[in-house]
Amino acid sequence: MITDQTKQVPGARIGTRLTGPRRHQHRLSARALVAIAFPGSGSSRIRLTRSGWLIAGTLFITTGLWAAAHLDELGSARVWLFRGPSQLVVLWSAALASLSILAVVRAQALEPLFGGLDMAVRLHRKLGLAALVLLAAHVVLLAADAVAQNASLAAVLVPFWSLEQRSIDILGFYVLIGLGILAYDRRLRHELWLALHRVIGLLFLFGTLHAAMEPGTIHRFEPLRTWIVMLLLVGAAAWTYRVLLFRRFGPLYRYKVESVVPRGAQTVDLVMSPLDRRMMYEPGTFVFVGVPTFKGKERELHPFSISSSPVERELRVSIRQIGDFTNQISTLSLGEDNPDFWKARRPGRYHPISTLQGADVDVYGPFGRFTPHRLQQYQRLVWVGTGIGITPFLSMLSFGRSTVDFRRIWLYYVVRSAEDAVYDEEIRNCRSRAGFTIDYVPWLTSEHGHLTAARIAADVKGDDYAVMLCGSMFVVAALRSQFRALGLPPQRIITEELQFRGTSEAPAAPART
Ligand SMILES: Cc1cc2nc3c(=O)[nH]c(=O)nc-3n(C[C@H](O)[C@H](O)[C@H](O)COP(=O)(O)OP(=O)(O)OC[C@H]3O[C@@H](n4cnc5c(N)ncnc54)[C@H](O)[C@@H]3O)c2cc1C
Repeated sequence: MITDQTKQVPGARIGTRLTGPRRHQHRLSARALVAIAFPGSGSSRIRLTRSGWLIAGTLFITTGLWAAAHLDELGSARVWLFRGPSQLVVLWSAALASLSILAVVRAQALEPLFGGLDMAVRLHRKLGLAALVLLAAHVVLLAADAVAQNASLAAVLVPFWSLEQRSIDILGFYVLIGLGILAYDRRLRHELWLALHRVIGLLFLFGTLHAAMEPGTIHRFEPLRTWIVMLLLVGAAAWTYRVLLFRRFGPLYRYKVESVVPRGAQTVDLVMSPLDRRMMYEPGTFVFVGVPTFKGKERELHPFSISSSPVERELRVSIRQIGDFTNQISTLSLGEDNPDFWKARRPGRYHPISTLQGADVDVYGPFGRFTPHRLQQYQRLVWVGTGIGITPFLSMLSFGRSTVDFRRIWLYYVVRSAEDAVYDEEIRNCRSRAGFTIDYVPWLTSEHGHLTAARIAADVKGDDYAVMLCGSMFVVAALRSQFRALGLPPQRIITEELQFRGTSEAPAAPART
């Protein structure tokens, strides 16, 4: 049953503290890492996710091996003043850089480790930044050591200052920091930004290789060197697979375009049928789509959530047309919105019968863990889809029609105005089996203002629900922090941001749609 709650008054507030089962912890908890790094720093509970364990374990082993390499000097003040910390931070930097590359390898087998590819991308952003900051700290500490030893500061900071200094290292450092800062420039075109990332990854790997080969701390203690080489190999293998091998060996399915269905002014459904085997997927997952016939964009892969049901043979993604790739999707249409369609329909001197065929499309996937089964222990679920973020819920709704599910769902479709609610009718038409109850709220921000967690909590009542949020980064981040502020434990909130770039911090201002 679908209940329409459009007329409810928004803005109710509650302050209930929520408790419940604690399972499926896939998010890296910054507080937990802080608690490990600084025991007794105020966090009463240590909660580490799988990726958190991986990072903490890697840093622990690196630190332990470094300490073992310096056993004879550990009592000396000199090693602790600048030299020791400078060595440690650069080892941590290399370790985190390797893990950061591993996180975005796009390997389905590693998704449970990182909590899904989208979560892994978020982790990658944090680890990459941490690796760069640690690298900068290494140079600052080296400079401080030089000053403390009355040695030349320029020899540490200026390449080619003297013959014996490490000019390549210094140059490499400046290039890495420069490229690293560029990588956070949100104005950069996505393809350029991706290319930049590949270069940064490669530079980090060469830097680590260089450190492992040349005489010094690592070289002097074989177990430490072996460990760093192992990390290097992990990073190098991940980089090679991601950059060079993914297109060839990734989970590829070939589909043919059946139709491109316009949905309002800026949105289309791309409906595809399999050319050979079809992809099996869970509702809520996403795929990378590539169109080999798009000139100049043959190698581009763009992520889109699946909006069809897994029981259907046809695969559908619903696309908001915001840039060059998504706009070009319309030209794949064999329908009336394609100019060539009419030429094909009215053959003549100037309009020869077209040999139009549905274009072939490369589909890689499925990826992501934004799936309701992760919250299977909860009977009451809140689903919030903002704008095109409604797509994974369309798949879940559609799949819900062919399954018996006794959960209760509150679905909020957040859009600016009624014209933007292009999937409203589809959601209303979705009839579920007995026992599957959906309270549907099309939330128009132009009329009701921003949707808040407090408002949702007032609708849902009780304290035993879990939340799935999908949409733009800022809205998702804002709602997530509002639910956290209401006391909802982190493992009861799963999110999907429709962006891989930028910050996921909640803005100070209320959520926008
Ligand atoms: C996990 C995930 C699921 C998504 N699901 C959907 C969906 O169901 N429907 C939908 O309309 N959109 C979805 N998106 C967003 C979609 O991928 C982008 O809108 C699309 O790639 C834009 O490409 P463009 O060349 O048309 O636009 P551009 O103008 O080139 O880019 C606009 C923005 O899209 C992002 N983007 C561009 N190219 C890529 C790329 N190759 N890979 C990743 N991000 C890119 C960048 O943030 C960029 O700033 C999803 C994104 C992610 C990360």
